[in-house]
Amino acid sequence: MTTTAPRDEQLWSRCAGCSSLLYRKRLLRNLDVCPECGTHSRLDAPTRVAQLVDPDSFTALPDRAVEVDPIGFVDALPYPHRLAAARAGTGLDEAVVCGTAAIGGHRIALAVMDFRFLGGSLGCAVGELITRTAERALADEVPLVLVTASGGARMQEGALSLMQMATVSQAVAGLREAGLLTVSVITDPTYGGVAASFATNTDVVLAESGARMGFAGPRVIRQVTGAALPEGFQRAEFLLRHGQVDMVVPRHALRGRLAALLAAARDSRRARARPPVPRQEPAPRPASPADASLPATAAGPGPSPADGAGGDAWETVRTARHPGRPTTVDYLESAFDGFVELHGDRLGADCPAIVGGLARLDGRPVMVIGHQKGHTTAELVARNFGMASPAGHRKALRLMRLAARLGLPVVTLVDTPGADPGVGAEEQGQAAAIAENILALSMLPTPVVAVVTGEGGSGGALALAVADRVLMLEHAVYSVISPEGCAAILWPDSSAAPQAARALRLTAPDLWRLGVVDEVVPEPAPAAQHDPAGAAELLARAVAANLGPLLDVPPATLVRRRRQRYRRYGAARAGAPAVRR
Ligand SMILES: [Zn+2]
Repeated sequence: MTTTAPRDEQLWSRCAGCSSLLYRKRLLRNLDVCPECGTHSRLDAPTRVAQLVDPDSFTALPDRAVEVDPIGFVDALPYPHRLAAARAGTGLDEAVVCGTAAIGGHRIALAVMDFRFLGGSLGCAVGELITRTAERALADEVPLVLVTASGGARMQEGALSLMQMATVSQAVAGLREAGLLTVSVITDPTYGGVAASFATNTDVVLAESGARMGFAGPRVIRQVTGAALPEGFQRAEFLLRHGQVDMVVPRHALRGRLAALLAAARDSRRARARPPVPRQEPAPRPASPADASLPATAAGPGPSPADGAGGDAWETVRTARHPGRPTTVDYLESAFDGFVELHGDRLGADCPAIVGGLARLDGRPVMVIGHQKGHTTAELVARNFGMASPAGHRKALRLMRLAARLGLPVVTLVDTPGADPGVGAEEQGQAAAIAENILALSMLPTPVVAVVTGEGGSGGALALAVADRVLMLEHAVYSVISPEGCAAILWPDSSAAPQAARALRLTAPDLWRLGVVDEVVPEPAPAAQHDPAGAAELLARAVAANLGPLLDVPPATLVRRRRQRYRRYGAARAGAPAVRR
């Protein structure tokens, strides 16, 4: 990173890597890479576009971000104030620049994220704009190139930002089905929900020299594990060594390398008799930001939460985490019959934090996959507190695909504080493992019903929760980030977790109102842990009722409707003038 010296700032910059004082013009000629030590400084999106594409080939998409504040988020400052400051500071509407362009003469659709804009965070507008870029690629039958730079999902938009991981992933799935190349270029830094979705579930993943990418950030990993991080942890070369990227490319070679990939894809496309490109039905576009928060599924909204449901959000967090709450294994023994557990990811491990296998619900065979916590400390430790490793996500993926091959519906039970944030998990590709599950679920040709039974913790939860119907127990929570994590970032310290819990809108009634969940499943009063058998009966009844209507839907229709479900949270409009405050 290069910081500009306060004096003579037009002329000189000091390199953050080696502290050399560099002549600014020389640095610019070198694409903002230090000629002394090779440090690649971060680029804003307009500069990146100018460096990457053929001169004068870029045309911005006509779609514009709509300013939204879907959950009325306030920490020290109301979210709209932060958004306005980011717009003023960057001159951009949002944290991404989208358009069509050419690289080496090959036409592409291109989305470039900008880290200056609220940390490049993925919110409803960013997700919608990248999705439209992917749809443009599909319509034009050209490859999609995504340049990522992001801290992750935008917590100020709550669970709706988490949904964007699914929205963009299913647009990537559409290109995969059409045989169109997708490429991501990982730049520094790429973390969280962006790493765990479209940064890693594209066909080819390039990392710019020196870029860092991971699911969990280094600070979180150190905090959780107390472990010292290895030299070069999560840097491009580390990612290459651990099999997570196809190549590490210095900035000056990026355009050439992309051109070569695009040429290969074009030639192979010309060579084969190309099947017709499947067209997606036009997605419902929210006419106004308010519409984005209306619950409206193909099957209609589920029953509204019981009156009086939803006390204080922090109390609900504590209830959702109660060690006495029924676990997935408990539900498998009570709500389902004849469970046969299947183990292993077939790649070298069996993650105890995820259990899955064949069972019957109401006499009908299903594949059940869920996070497993435990009731005692020993059980919790043995199950890694329900935090799945990459092996757990790959086991889940294997079982989902097996279910589809056998024609079995999938029922997932979500109860995790989040995916495992350890050093080993990062080495084994946690981000890509989650991203692949999200992509697979958006293509899976069999019914999927997800139930958040306890804690629905961010990307780790979503890895099992992209579904045709998403249910949530009355006292469960579902959130883009833990209240403690959110408080540590946006409040003076993590003791503000109760305030963060309220601001995040993470209770079942909140999420039903936002349309993130389709139905709230009642619990026996006062909560499931006081009557596990009663809770199991209510869960079984709700899952069966939601599964029934899905069973006769043709797979193609099912997948199309599932994608429409995740398409309704976006925030952008076509052809409108730039929105400015
Ligand atoms: Zn340097």
